[in-house]
Amino acid sequence: MSDTQPPRRKLPRLSGAREQLQRSRKFASSVVREITDDDERTPLPQVPTATRLGLLSCHACDLVSPRSLEGQPCPRCGATLHHRKPDSVARTWAFLLSAYMLYIPANLLPVMVTQSILGTQQDTILSGVIYLWLSGSRLLAGIVLIASIIVPLLKMLILTLLLVSVHMRSTWRLRQRTRLYGLVEVIGRWSMLDIFVVALLASLVRAGALATIIPGGGALAFASVVVLTMLASLSFDPRLLWDSLEQQDARH
Ligand SMILES: [Zn+2]
Repeated sequence: MSDTQPPRRKLPRLSGAREQLQRSRKFASSVVREITDDDERTPLPQVPTATRLGLLSCHACDLVSPRSLEGQPCPRCGATLHHRKPDSVARTWAFLLSAYMLYIPANLLPVMVTQSILGTQQDTILSGVIYLWLSGSRLLAGIVLIASIIVPLLKMLILTLLLVSVHMRSTWRLRQRTRLYGLVEVIGRWSMLDIFVVALLASLVRAGALATIIPGGGALAFASVVVLTMLASLSFDPRLLWDSLEQQDARH
């Protein structure tokens, strides 16, 4: 009976990753559908908002307080009250521009230096992806490509779009842009995958030959990009997107 079982089961640990990939692909297609659907015709509900009523809500316990308590401690939980995240746009720009700058060395400098009796080999992220692809680990190559090159770039581009639209006080596709911000929050998780991949690579090489792996300069730049994009998306306040609608309504 056991002969009918598939005899070859390469890298069993990756089956979970494959499931994850499938799930995220399904999620991605639903996101694309949500972002591209044209629901501009449905009128946005004109409900009173906290801003219009001169109120603000505590970010920690959601207690609604008058706007005059801005910067004061929340009467219920003691957290500092803010109408919007303080200096949200400036902070997000600062983190984002630093991330853009470090994205260049992260991709050009070697992330991994392998020293063995055959010599020293330096690998950038992209050369690592090509090496993995050519050596048959296509799934791993795909994961590294998505997690290390595509996801950080996508995150930075989306945040740039959101910031520019806040500057322009655009009321264009507010719902879709809010969903884009949600997407940034979700895909941020995938950035952490790199650590797993590097650990996996290190163990593969260590087991294979007498070699030592040391992280190159690109690894530090890359880690900084991951942290900076995380901080950038944390400092962005998605409610700023909707403020332009309030301002537009107030003018009419
Ligand atoms: Zn509170």
